[in-house]
This record gives sequence, structure tokens and C-alpha cells, in this order.
Amino acid sequence: MATERTFSILKPDATRRNLTGKINAVFEEKGLRIVAQRRIQMTQSMAETFYGVHKERPFFKDLVSFMTSGPVVVQVLEGEDAVARNREIMGATNPANAAEGTIRKLFAESIEANSVHGSDSPENAATEIAFFFAGHEIVG
Ligand code: ADP
Ligand code: MG
Repeated sequence: MATERTFSILKPDATRRNLTGKINAVFEEKGLRIVAQRRIQMTQSMAETFYGVHKERPFFKDLVSFMTSGPVVVQVLEGEDAVARNREIMGATNPANAAEGTIRKLFAESIEANSVHGSDSPENAATEIAFFFAGHEIVG
């Protein structure tokens, strides 16, 4: 398997509880490298664009409001098979269904406030990385 990059967000529930270091430690312990990182306040229009694929879903409005409710940390993670690997490290969307030791099992508050976002395919990873980072900001 080749070295790959994925896009990650530490969500407002994680920054609010001061958990960014603990979550980053999980990525690092499990072999992913943080090759770009920035703390930002998402605007409504950024969150609507980023989660545009979900705009017809009943939870869309609440999701946009949650993602703009406080700072987030946007990141690029690098490693072997990073997209799929990060989905395993994160665990299921609903923390009630997340496996032991996953970030969502360890830290998530609810199906919405579930601490982390991770790209779901290499194609989406490339799009999401380009949405937040210029090439020179990613240093592998
Ligand atoms: P994932 O983040 O695991 O890829 P989705 O892409 O399906 O999950 O959903 C995006 C985000 O929307 C989730 O991480 C979560 O914050 C929120 N979400 C998903 N499903 C629900 C739901 N049924 N109710 C409230 N929020 C949800
Ligand atoms: Mg998703």
C-alpha cells in the first residue's frame, strides 16, 4: 500500500473540551503523521460548502450550526493507506456503534458532536485538502 494523505477536522466539541492534543496523540500512536494543521473558525458558508453532499439530509442545518459553534482544527494526515486507516481510527459515525479504542468511542459526545471528520475516499480527500490548504502549507 502506498503512502497517502487524508483530510481531518477536530470538531468544535473537541476544541471546547481541550482535547486536540489527546486526539492528535491517537493519530500519531496509530502511525498517521500530521503534515499540515491550522485552527480556524468555520463560517456558515464554508460549512455549507464543505458538507454540501448532505444538504438534503434532515440533520444538515444542525450540522452547519454545530460546525460553526466554535473553533475547529483542520489537518492533513499522511501514512500508509491513510484514508481507510483514519476511518478505522475514528470509528463509526455514531459513538454508540464505535469500536473500543477508536477516537469516537473514546471522546465523542453524540452522533452529531462526534469529535472528528475524516475523508471517506481518496478523491474526496484531495478535494477537501485543496479546500483548506495550499500546497506549500503541507510539509511531509
Ligand atoms: P462521517 O463523519 O462518519 O463520514 P457522515 O458523512 O454520514 O458521517 O455525516 C457527516 C456528519 O454529520 C457526521 O460526522 C455527524 O457529525 C453528522 N451526522 C451524521 N448523521 C447524523 C444524524 N443522524 N444526526 C445528527 N448528525 C449526524
Ligand atoms: Mg462523511
